[in-house]
Amino acid sequence: MFDIIVIGGGAAGMTAALYARRNGKSVLVLEGESLGGQIATSPRLENFPSIKEISGEAFADNLFEQIVDLGAEVEIEKAVSIEKRADKSFLVRTEYNEYAAKSVIIAAGVKHKHLKTKHDREDLVGKGVYYCAVCDGPFYKGREVAVVGDANSALQYALLLSGYCKKVYMYTLFDKFFGDESLVKALRAKDNIEVRPNTSVVDFIGEEELTAIEYTDKDGNLCRQEIPAVFVAIGQVPDNAAFANVADLDDAGYIAADESCRTKTEGLFVAGDCRTKAVRQVSTAVSDGAIAATNASLYLESL
Ligand SMILES: Cc1cc2nc3c(=O)[nH]c(=O)nc-3n(C[C@H](O)[C@H](O)[C@H](O)COP(=O)(O)OP(=O)(O)OC[C@H]3O[C@@H](n4cnc5c(N)ncnc54)[C@H](O)[C@@H]3O)c2cc1C
Repeated sequence: MFDIIVIGGGAAGMTAALYARRNGKSVLVLEGESLGGQIATSPRLENFPSIKEISGEAFADNLFEQIVDLGAEVEIEKAVSIEKRADKSFLVRTEYNEYAAKSVIIAAGVKHKHLKTKHDREDLVGKGVYYCAVCDGPFYKGREVAVVGDANSALQYALLLSGYCKKVYMYTLFDKFFGDESLVKALRAKDNIEVRPNTSVVDFIGEEELTAIEYTDKDGNLCRQEIPAVFVAIGQVPDNAAFANVADLDDAGYIAADESCRTKTEGLFVAGDCRTKAVRQVSTAVSDGAIAATNASLYLESL
């Protein structure tokens, strides 16, 4: 039996493992896809305090090395269920195995909803197609960019980008926004944001990097715009349904928890992007990881 099982090997999960090991707890990290999570897919991380610039991959590799050196165990297996047993321990099932622990930290992250295009162009993600303007917008300072989306994230992306990009083209499915009025008002006041309503971006064009997008206009005509970068903000997708028996999910599917990272089940904690929160970044994910592991360690002492 492990002291703590961490579900998810992203920034939050690996930080939780780091703190748990330093508290002397045995730890198993279960990672369903690839270690590092979202940040490992980012070409450059430039807003993590004290690190001027690092590739997302190197950041994740360093964290992985740190937790392995400290003795954390890691398995590449997706957790499919969590059960709390009568003796207060937890049983975590994966696709292949079952593991027992006294405490569990869910750090399963979130997935940006990807735009479905005519051709599968996932190869252009990070090479002109982005899902995080906060992270990757500054690379296009002084240039023209496009934003796809019509709700708060897209509005915020457009406003942020308009501060340092030459021009921002905003593609929206309808002729209205589905975000806060204050954001819409601020957007309307910007000279360098051009909204293209009733449009649908249907393809990304480019060999090694994005060079253009294709979209249909309000009359259904297929059009093309040469552009070096497009920021897609059409929503995020948490994947927490498998844990709904032990944790409350909010309307959007995020695990309900406050800054303490506690869930409704004693001994079960949540960290990072998968929980209810306003800012989803590496700095907030590692903060949650530290808090969740500390509170899990205190919980173990109380048993
Ligand atoms: C392209 C890109 C660039 C970004 N750039 C920046 C940036 O510059 N600065 C910044 O601060 N933030 C940036 N972000 C956001 C940042 O990466 C996230 O906020 C942060 O990494 C969240 O960490 P996390 O551990 O909570 O979740 P994630 O990174 O999503 O990690 C969750 C992990 O859990 C795994 N998992 C999910 N379900 C299961 C399961 N059932 N069983 C086992 N494993 C599971 C996933 O495979 C994943 O590896 C960027 C995001 C992207 C996508």
